[in-house]
Amino acid sequence: MDPITRRTMLAGTAAGGVFASSLARAQTGPIVEPKRPGHGGTNPGPDNQTIDRMNPNILVPPAQDHGTLPNLRFRFGDSHMRLESGGWTRQITVRELGVSKNIAGVNMRLNAGGIRELHWHKAAEWAYMLYGTARITAIDADGNRFVDDVGVGDLWYFPSGIPHSIQGLGSDGCEFLLVFDDGEFDEDNTFLLSDWFKHVPPEVLAKNFGVSADAFAKVPDPSELYIFAAQVPGPLDTDKMAGATQPPNTFSHRLMAQDPIRTKSGTVRIADTKNFPASVTIASGLVEVNPGAMRELHWHPNTDEWLYFIEGTARLGVFAGSGQARTFDFSAGDVGFVPFAMGHYIENTGSTPVRFLEIFKSNYYADVSLNQWLALTPRELVEAHLRVDQATIDAFHKLKSPVVPV
Ligand code: MN
Ligand code: MN
Repeated sequence: MDPITRRTMLAGTAAGGVFASSLARAQTGPIVEPKRPGHGGTNPGPDNQTIDRMNPNILVPPAQDHGTLPNLRFRFGDSHMRLESGGWTRQITVRELGVSKNIAGVNMRLNAGGIRELHWHKAAEWAYMLYGTARITAIDADGNRFVDDVGVGDLWYFPSGIPHSIQGLGSDGCEFLLVFDDGEFDEDNTFLLSDWFKHVPPEVLAKNFGVSADAFAKVPDPSELYIFAAQVPGPLDTDKMAGATQPPNTFSHRLMAQDPIRTKSGTVRIADTKNFPASVTIASGLVEVNPGAMRELHWHPNTDEWLYFIEGTARLGVFAGSGQARTFDFSAGDVGFVPFAMGHYIENTGSTPVRFLEIFKSNYYADVSLNQWLALTPRELVEAHLRVDQATIDAFHKLKSPVVPV
């Protein structure tokens, strides 16, 4: 790429991502000066323009960005894809996104009939259905039985150590996001049913189940299962079992059936133990921000925030204290992270709605609004700090509005 074209692209990114027009200008129009005259320069060396175009706020950061912050974003598209006969899986753990010590995420696809093998693990598992339909099963330690069908927008939560399975339904199976309450979690290292059977002497299996020693001779090798192809099961009501009892707190939740918090500019649906009592270690919010709008300046008083972008494009600006701030760009399939208590905003940078999940390792959802804080603080105190006029103070909102403008 020649320097002139390159410079034009930098200017386009600085202006907020009008890439098509800036590139078109490069072919026909005049050179556009970078947005921060006197700063930076052209980039004539090796580079990946496709990546650059997705990173306008990394390439030409806001002038207010300063200091060193750790990386706060990782794309599922940059994760290793594990391909199996029944679908695929990929993960973003502390190994991919080093700052995320207490949350890991997995993105999984199960084809129609495809089964994520019966298994359990030390971490608790929270899920959001991204596509299609699935059947999930579990039992709890008291012998309560759980079977349910879930669709787009539904959640599930399997507590630590509880055995479960997932199977793709319908004509085209499902895709979902899994969130684990441990950054070290590894989807490739769970307790698999077939793995245990392969590592118990046959006479012990025979004694345990009261059957002959050759009853389990055909159990497949674990490498054949994990995520494997199978027939789509029958309707849910054929899966009922006489005499079985349900867990006291159901493991699934219909998030889209909730009335959202609604502002002029978007919506928020919160699920935590107040309305999804089973989910004792994960609280979540599904946020929709209209074009031109923004998840307001705020922070979380309880823990780190783990983000997953479902659709649209956005930028996340994080304030870390001590003069440090950094901005990251996001699009569908990206994971973000905001360390505990750091101030931040998420602004829609595209022309379509942006939808994302806010995830917290907590039994409750909480945020502190900068706007509400200032509106509820004595005026003289605010004036003395910010040197703003009365009209500005009048504009502050006593009622929290998670998505602005109101
Ligand atoms: Mn699991
Ligand atoms: Mn937040």
